[in-house]
Amino acid sequence: MSKILNPVKNAAVAGADSSRYRVVGVDGDRDIPTATASAACIIKASGLTKSYRKQNVVVPVLRGVDFQAEEKRITAIVGQSGSGKSTLLHLLGTLDQPDEGEIFFNGARIDNVSARERDHFRNTQLGMIFQFYHLLPELTLLENIMAPAMIRHGIFSYWKRRSELKERARELAAVVGLEHRLRHRPSQLSGGEMQRTAIARALILNPSLLLADEPTGNLDQETGTSILGLLQSLNEEHNLTIVMVTHDEYVASQCDALVRLKGGRVERLK
Ligand code: ADP
Ligand code: MG
Repeated sequence: MSKILNPVKNAAVAGADSSRYRVVGVDGDRDIPTATASAACIIKASGLTKSYRKQNVVVPVLRGVDFQAEEKRITAIVGQSGSGKSTLLHLLGTLDQPDEGEIFFNGARIDNVSARERDHFRNTQLGMIFQFYHLLPELTLLENIMAPAMIRHGIFSYWKRRSELKERARELAAVVGLEHRLRHRPSQLSGGEMQRTAIARALILNPSLLLADEPTGNLDQETGTSILGLLQSLNEEHNLTIVMVTHDEYVASQCDALVRLKGGRVERLK
């Protein structure tokens, strides 16, 4: 069985696909991505336009967005409130479709495929986290982490694989530093702990790309910095590729690549 390394405690845990969560030494034996090294593009969008229609009023939000993110890096998207950051992230995550333009994931078109193929893409390749966590209040922390697996596998297959999935969920709870809170419900957790739970949930199906919409936006500075540290350790130690919308200048400054949405277009800052 392949292994992942616990970034919180540096303890090896089992259960992930080695192609995505490569085992690394405690000292870290991966190639650190640098701005100058060429890296493979994992997601690429070109010419995206998107307008919302409210009654007879058309609100253009994206007016020809070109965007790309490299594998194994953290790419930040900044921009004023209402500039279309969430809209862009939703298009990249196939939660919505552009009016015009194309989106490719590892070279394959994802924006114009069937709803079933989009669901499959999201289940197998993507993890998502949001500003307000979106945990299910009636489920425990462990059950919340397992929820995507229940939905993905269907009840019969889920029950057959339940102990394996439970073990993986426990490992991820340890990765995010919450192995001692497994039976707690969201109402018993702090904001930072809820975001850590949401991160573990986003990783249960072993995604190759994590999309994060203002993951520190509802947290105080110190907690936000610790969530950023967790995302950085997942990126550095497990090669998790992250595209993150953020308002926070410090968070943005810590990312490998940085773009700004302005006037419905994207400009690359770093
Ligand atoms: P950001 O995340 O940068 O704050 P959004 O992508 O959420 O911006 O929104 C961009 C613009 O699109 C805003 O003016 C917002 O009101 C509008 N908008 C977003 N979603 C919808 C929707 N479902 N229907 C109508 N307008 C929307
Ligand atoms: Mg937003």
